[in-house]
Amino acid sequence: MTIRLKEVDAVMVGMGWTGAIAARELTKAGLDVVGLERGADRVPAEDFGLTTLRDELRYVHRLELMQDNSLDTITFRNAADQPALPIRRFGAFLPGEGVGGTGSHWGALYWRNLPSDFRIRSALTERYGANAIPADMTIQDWPVSYEELEPFYDRFDKLCGVSGQAGNLKGHIIAGGNPFEGPRSDHYPNKPIKSGLGPSLFGEAAKSLGCHPFPAPTATSSAPYVNPEGMTLGRCEYCGHCNRTACEANAKASPNITLMPALRADPRFELRTRAFVSRLVYDKAARKVTGVVYTDMRNGEEYEQPAGLVVLSAFTFGNTQQLLLSGIGEPYDPASGKGVVGKNYCYQFEAGGVAFFADKEMNPFIGAPGMGVVIDDFNGENFDHSGLGFFGGGYIVCSNGGAPLRAATAARHW
Ligand SMILES: Cc1cc2nc3c(=O)[nH]c(=O)nc-3n(C[C@H](O)[C@H](O)[C@H](O)COP(=O)(O)OP(=O)(O)OC[C@H]3O[C@@H](n4cnc5c(N)ncnc54)[C@H](O)[C@@H]3O)c2cc1C
Repeated sequence: MTIRLKEVDAVMVGMGWTGAIAARELTKAGLDVVGLERGADRVPAEDFGLTTLRDELRYVHRLELMQDNSLDTITFRNAADQPALPIRRFGAFLPGEGVGGTGSHWGALYWRNLPSDFRIRSALTERYGANAIPADMTIQDWPVSYEELEPFYDRFDKLCGVSGQAGNLKGHIIAGGNPFEGPRSDHYPNKPIKSGLGPSLFGEAAKSLGCHPFPAPTATSSAPYVNPEGMTLGRCEYCGHCNRTACEANAKASPNITLMPALRADPRFELRTRAFVSRLVYDKAARKVTGVVYTDMRNGEEYEQPAGLVVLSAFTFGNTQQLLLSGIGEPYDPASGKGVVGKNYCYQFEAGGVAFFADKEMNPFIGAPGMGVVIDDFNGENFDHSGLGFFGGGYIVCSNGGAPLRAATAARHW
């Protein structure tokens, strides 16, 4: 029997970055909020300390902080006419689980989209002509512009104590930063973190070729920092145990460090972990979601949590699944191009390389993923694509900071 609980003002489905940010804004606005998270609670002082956190097998290879795909997984197919099969062992794609979500084990590389990214269809059409974009390329403009979003980028910079070197401050280009970035309203709150020998060599080589190297922006604090929520971040210790795991120094920004302590102290917020949301309660006639149904994973009991506002914060896959199961919106049909639910998802693509110098020790097993030197000269519309046969591009980075086993065994540290 489903147990019906007392209605609350708002409920979050998932407590990663999206859930924590939305919950904090809503409680500040005076709403009573319940945060539902399918995974375990994760408290930095208890779960992310030494020596546990340096267990590279546990976190980096056995994926302790990722979705438990023995309980629930994601199906995958290469083409629409294939049966979708469940992913039994995650590889490059690593959705998070537990309080903090993916934000507790992300690499904290910290990028704003380029201004042209927000109006990519218009930008390409203006530059390369009305017929330049192939018919099967489904890119489209965003409904918001870089300028509209900039104040929120700036707010998030400060929440996370981001380290970096501004390259464009209110339209003024600053040497040593990224000259291609959109105008920023303020500097990064922290100076760039240190570089390593490899990244420094890369920067020198890139400069000699006429490119514009700059220190990678990273949500890893280069110095002790107090964010606007009053939360203290530590200084990066360059230990190398960072990506795919949490941060023992509390330097890498995560929802657990930057927001959760404030939420936990807020009487308007209640966290329920091991709460697996199975469906939305959707009144089709009224076109209104009135709550969620979840299972308490500890005892198997099912609950209905009515809420005035239901926030889907379960990452794109969870959110799309809930919308499809409830029949909300038009599902995307790749054959006809109609529908928007499930359209245009793209995971991050990376290609790695490794260089050897017989006379230099690079020590790739220490550092931080963000301690890279980058060029943005070949990203987005920062260069002319005429006659190249493709659009887009990417930044090129040289970095230090894979955990020891991974750095020793893989050309890519990711
Ligand atoms: C290994 C890795 C490294 C990354 N590094 C970077 C980086 O360096 N820079 C960068 O910008 N981005 C990076 N990303 C991406 C970035 O971390 C994510 O885009 C971001 O954290 C997503 O936040 P979210 O709140 O939308 O989702 P998530 O963090 O995935 O949070 C969703 C939460 O919802 C919960 N949930 C899901 N379904 C349910 C359900 N049915 N019921 C209850 N709870 C549910 C999940 O357990 C999870 O805690 C990285 C991602 C990975 C996997």
